[in-house]
Amino acid sequence: MLLEATPSVEQEINPWESAAHRFDEAAERLKLDDGMRKVLRQPAMELTVNIPVVLDDGRIEVFTGYRVQHSIARGPAKGGIRFAPDVSLDEVRALAAWMTWKCAVVNIPFGGGKGGVICEPHLLSEGELERITRRYTAEILEFIGPERDVPAPDVNTNAQTMAWIMDTYSMHKRHTVTAVVTGKPLELGGSLGRPEATGRGCMIVTMEAMRRFGLTPENTRVVVQGFGNVGGMAARLMSQSGFKIICVAEYDGAVYNPHGLDIDALVQHRTEMGSITGFPEAEDIDKDDSLLLDCDVLIPAAHENVITSANADRIRAKILCEGANGPTTFLADSILAEKKVFVIPDILANAGGVTVSYFEWVQDRQGYFWTEAEVNTRLDQIMISSFNDVIGYADKHAVKNRTAAYMLALDRVAFAIKRRGLYA
Ligand code: GLU
Repeated sequence: MLLEATPSVEQEINPWESAAHRFDEAAERLKLDDGMRKVLRQPAMELTVNIPVVLDDGRIEVFTGYRVQHSIARGPAKGGIRFAPDVSLDEVRALAAWMTWKCAVVNIPFGGGKGGVICEPHLLSEGELERITRRYTAEILEFIGPERDVPAPDVNTNAQTMAWIMDTYSMHKRHTVTAVVTGKPLELGGSLGRPEATGRGCMIVTMEAMRRFGLTPENTRVVVQGFGNVGGMAARLMSQSGFKIICVAEYDGAVYNPHGLDIDALVQHRTEMGSITGFPEAEDIDKDDSLLLDCDVLIPAAHENVITSANADRIRAKILCEGANGPTTFLADSILAEKKVFVIPDILANAGGVTVSYFEWVQDRQGYFWTEAEVNTRLDQIMISSFNDVIGYADKHAVKNRTAAYMLALDRVAFAIKRRGLYA
């Protein structure tokens, strides 16, 4: 059912509400029958675990964690695990559903899942993080596996976290199972190109969108919010390709140079100073203002709900490439559409990560590894054809790009469910 009354701020920023609203819009346009809507609207499985862990000072703390499998209709559940203080079941549910749609948009044989642990990773030691990760893995062990559910890194988790999960799982199985997670270190069955994949995917789809505006990298001004795995990599790769990165924003501030920032020097500055702010070759600006700068491409690659009904009408970018999951609220969608901002929706824009995760899973299962060039060429092909699928669909059916992406994805997943039939 579509939301009828004007949604409250809480509803606007509730990720499950956002996901449900987009789902409803696409389901309505596809004229999906009621039964199928019921199947696809709810996650297939939700698991909550309370994880007791001994802290470094000897105290016992209990952390709550989740793993949600939204759908396994097209293959094993796939999706990251995040560690953050504001993780909630609603958020993990929404993110799991987004993974189902994302994998379907790029047409890889996975369903969608997501996990999270409520904790403040910056206040925990390496040893505490390892113990949380291993105990969390042990608690969800029965539900994951190369054929069942394949986790990966997400906010505040990384290749080391994946190595601990892989090891814990393997110790229980009594043999090494590399394909249980992706985003692993290279020497433990990881894939070349995986660390860059999400940022590279963003660049590939942005370049496709730029053709519509007659833009070339040299005359394209980019603003990137987030300087981590996604934003940092997108900024680096785009600056290497000749784009002008005029602003980078992080949680503690933003730096602006209308002539373009030297991204390698900025990385160096942050390593030395612990912050991007105070970069000598740029001006410090307010981080919230960075989203409103006059630019050609805006890449929100930090977190959810940064473009809302409160600021969408002030966005000046021509192209919005959603590097993060859920950076735009559903109320902001129509405002951006009115302003004719070309939106590359998250489930397409940041799908490069899960696409190379798929390559990693394939390589692990074959025990045969590809060169970086092979990985990048295949990523290029998938991102470009998915972009054309989504934008072609949007043009043909005169719907928003995001609606087109959802319609394409829902249709693929619904088709799989229909062909399988319901087991009873
Ligand atoms: N966490 C990433 C995402 O949201 C990657 C997921 C994966 O590779 O499974 O797409």
